[in-house]
Amino acid sequence: MSIRGRTTETSASQRDLLGLTLRQLEAWFQELGEPAYRARQVYNWIYKHLVTDFAAMSDLPLSLRERLAGEATIGQATVRSEQHSRDDRTRKILLELADGRLIESVLMLYPPLGGSSARATVCVSSQAGCAFGCTFCATGQMGFERHLSAGEIIAQVLHFARELRAAPWRAQGLPSSQAIDHITNLVFMGMGEPLHNYDNLMQAVRILNSPEGFNLGARHMTISTVGLPHAIRRLSREGLQVNLAISLHAPNDELRSQTMPVNRKYPLAEVLAACQDYIAATRRQITFEYVLLAGVNDSPACAHQLGELLAPLKQYAHVNCIPVNKTAAAYRPPAPEAIRRFREILFQHGVSNSVRAERGDDIDAACGQLRTRFVALQRRGRAQETGAEPARTL
Ligand code: SAH
Ligand code: SF4
Repeated sequence: MSIRGRTTETSASQRDLLGLTLRQLEAWFQELGEPAYRARQVYNWIYKHLVTDFAAMSDLPLSLRERLAGEATIGQATVRSEQHSRDDRTRKILLELADGRLIESVLMLYPPLGGSSARATVCVSSQAGCAFGCTFCATGQMGFERHLSAGEIIAQVLHFARELRAAPWRAQGLPSSQAIDHITNLVFMGMGEPLHNYDNLMQAVRILNSPEGFNLGARHMTISTVGLPHAIRRLSREGLQVNLAISLHAPNDELRSQTMPVNRKYPLAEVLAACQDYIAATRRQITFEYVLLAGVNDSPACAHQLGELLAPLKQYAHVNCIPVNKTAAAYRPPAPEAIRRFREILFQHGVSNSVRAERGDDIDAACGQLRTRFVALQRRGRAQETGAEPARTL
């Protein structure tokens, strides 16, 4: 199973089937001396029926089910802690991977609004820790541990998909609205830098996107990057309709290098040149994320500079203003009036923009925070307070 109970035994010799493409799974079945069509059946059970147990695969012979249970697993992660926001629109889990590493994933639920239907978005981690050390980011302060495998990336999505299928969600106070029972969107905005783990990320995206797999439209997925020019160009050649978000966070090199060390290696001009190439190749709009840090990058002068920087991209640039989530670092979000003024200046430059609504602020919403607190408590020998077993913090 992808998210297993603490009691389930796995062995290092077992093959984890999660994260294999259908072709790879077929090849593995052939090695076992089984016909390739068995792979398609198992794929169907994993990605359509979302099962975690070979015993449930009722169209396989019993002997094969028993053999698979001995020789393979479907994911190897364990939920170590779980938090739900008071309004239950944000749910965060801390997952322990097979080697003991800890990562976070978040489910964000949105009620139907106007003409649009309800959404269920998973914020997915791509690495344990992160190598890029942005000063406002809790994950960045941990340093880099390792890349996640395609299976470990997919496991996060399937966990929440199962949860919603078992208990569809309806917004509190909207009893007549339609319940949502499936994942509608993915954002690769959890722990880590997705484009630093390019191959595993792409394998996960393709499996999640493929009709035989999880079958989620690429247009419903967003990859967020700190801005690695070569990887942005590579992504533009994948022929995938995924959305790209670039973490900009400052309108000039001096300021960006202060909060984002990566800027010393890839300054703004190089990131924007790669964005120009991406737009030329895909004709797709790019979202520029801009974490607003009061007194650091939220001045009217910064807004003008940002507007001038992005205006040449015309309708292909959209800015998402994100009031900073509080972490251990001493940053504060700007007052609403400062945010409004910042956005107004961007509009004056013809740059479309929006502001990210804060959510889950009662549950360590910024990625990396739950893990930071969990590890600190464990060090003090009080892990049980956050729930060493799956727990709901209400
Ligand atoms: N490494 C990738 C994706 C993960 S971070 C990236 O940096 O884009 C996802 C987004 O969350 C990024 O835009 C990141 O800058 C932002 N972020 C990090 N720490 C934050 C904080 N404390 N408050 C608000 N946003 C934060
Ligand atoms: Fe890494 Fe993104 Fe955090 Fe920067 S913001 S440290 S790139 S996860």
